[in-house]
Amino acid sequence: MTSADINDLIRMLARLPGVGPRSARRLALTLLTERETMMKPLMMQMDKTYGQVMTCQTCGNLDSASPCHICTDTRRNRTLICVVQGIADIWAIERTRVFDGLYHVLGGVLSAIDGVKPEHLRIDELLERIRIEGTQEVVLALSATVDGQTTGHYLADRLKDTGVRIMRLAHGMPVGGELDYLDDGTLTTAMKSRTAVQR
Ligand SMILES: [Zn+2]
Repeated sequence: MTSADINDLIRMLARLPGVGPRSARRLALTLLTERETMMKPLMMQMDKTYGQVMTCQTCGNLDSASPCHICTDTRRNRTLICVVQGIADIWAIERTRVFDGLYHVLGGVLSAIDGVKPEHLRIDELLERIRIEGTQEVVLALSATVDGQTTGHYLADRLKDTGVRIMRLAHGMPVGGELDYLDDGTLTTAMKSRTAVQR
């Protein structure tokens, strides 16, 4: 391997979120010095995952099947849908084991600055699911940011004619807080003591 290859490896690692140039060099060195025990298993796992992973056509989750393992789990409460911005939020909520319903990934939040409009989010898909799945309750688990709250109000408005109970996470979430960054205790409390959206 030439040093150009090593530099390319470091550059690619540094593109990952949370990995700066210094961490990228350390990761590359570990991979290069432990090729059999670190690099090869990682490579094989990445290759396997790359070939298998897909987006669930129902909820928007990532899994090795569509519908995903959550959507097909018969032990879950199928009358309850938790609406989240992204997949990281599903992972965060699942980690707490506080929620036993289904999910719906919006794929972002409305944003005037970033030009994100309702048609860019999976809102029509949500309305369609509520219509055909017999949903009774929708929990809006959105970040306590301005855009997150704007999206919550917009969704509550769009959902009001469906007859479902519309809930949102309890206050106690830090203002400006991204769901994904909440500690498990705070997230559990916010979910357990969720409140009805006033309309
Ligand atoms: Zn799914």
